[in-house]
Amino acid sequence: MNNPTTHTRCGIGYDTHRLVEGLPLVLAGCALPAPRGPIAHSDGDVLCHAIVDALLGAAALGDIGRHFPDNDPQWKNTPGLTFLEHTRRLIANAGWSIGNIDSVVVLDEPKLAPHMDEIIRRIAFALGIDPSKVSVKAKTSEGVTPNLATAHAVALVERTSI
Ligand code: MG
Repeated sequence: MNNPTTHTRCGIGYDTHRLVEGLPLVLAGCALPAPRGPIAHSDGDVLCHAIVDALLGAAALGDIGRHFPDNDPQWKNTPGLTFLEHTRRLIANAGWSIGNIDSVVVLDEPKLAPHMDEIIRRIAFALGIDPSKVSVKAKTSEGVTPNLATAHAVALVERTSI
């Protein structure tokens, strides 16, 4: 009798967008009170975009540009959470389940602590996983890149074969 074997893969993702005065700043679908927001083809949600790339990378399914090309009108102004929902299906269709997500947002303004529970809840809901599997950490650039929103993410996916 064969024992079940669990296979795990990890992936890394990164995204950055330039911020300008007067545009909305959205992270994980949360509109944040911020003086500047990203210039982007979509909603510029760097956290969702980094997590999408981490998940796609873990499953060796390419990257966000392959699945959601920024020259395709279908994806113009698409919310980051929608990309996560599509990625959830791509991962599941390839036979993987999501183990966990860890991430770091680098942003000078605003402070993310008051919004963190909601950010994590929305990511977990879009991916269909428990919020305990999602970690988001916040850093500032110490004023070095005040006009950038950046996110780094890693993801683990797993599947069990008999
Ligand atoms: Mg992006």
